[in-house]
Amino acid sequence: MEITYATAPTPGTAGDDYGLIGDDWALVLDGATANGLPTGCTHTVRWYVHQLAAHLGTQLAATTYPLPEVLRVAIADLAVSHGRTCDMTCPDSPSSTVAAARVTGDQVELLVLCDSPILVLTHPGDVLVVTDTRTQHLPGYTPADLSKLRNTDIGFWVASTNPAAADRAVTRTLPRAEVAAVALLTDGASRLADHYGWSWEQLMNTLLDKGPREVIRLTREQEAIRSPARGKANDDATAIVIRL
Ligand SMILES: [Zn+2]
Repeated sequence: MEITYATAPTPGTAGDDYGLIGDDWALVLDGATANGLPTGCTHTVRWYVHQLAAHLGTQLAATTYPLPEVLRVAIADLAVSHGRTCDMTCPDSPSSTVAAARVTGDQVELLVLCDSPILVLTHPGDVLVVTDTRTQHLPGYTPADLSKLRNTDIGFWVASTNPAAADRAVTRTLPRAEVAAVALLTDGASRLADHYGWSWEQLMNTLLDKGPREVIRLTREQEAIRSPARGKANDDATAIVIRL
């Protein structure tokens, strides 16, 4: 197995993405940008993302729990770690997307929570896209709307303080023999397909042929020419490619 990784924060910022790689697993996280509402938490989004990565990495390195169980335990343990100082019931507590892949024996397990997609190149040469599209169909997008919709079944789910989010993640398990490669992307690294007219096949092929770093460079090139129809002019971008 070969794993390649590139990440680039929004120019001029430290960034809230995080990537983590083990022997047979990898994950990317994308912290939700603070929206100005009180969070009930004394910590930053960046702190939350780094802590979540550490908790997930501990589970992935030391257990064989299914990915939703890994995520549930990580969210729960992390909530305990700041539950004494912070309000775990605040819907605007720091949060993060999760995209994770693990190769076990003869299977490839995938998990996506919120808008960090996974692409899979199968052995016949098809590109399979694993996405959680709930954030694309919300009744409103103001900070107040998102506050009401976050981690509810009428809205969307994200890793934050409620371990139940793990059970709402999108999961797929594929036979290892059918998988040639897997790419984990934060939405800043999927913009060529989401906003700039590329097909998922083009994006996956470029990730494999030229590498994650080049995909991020091409994304920045597009962002300099025109802002996406929705969202920020630039975004943190992280991509991990696993070749089996
Ligand atoms: Zn906190």
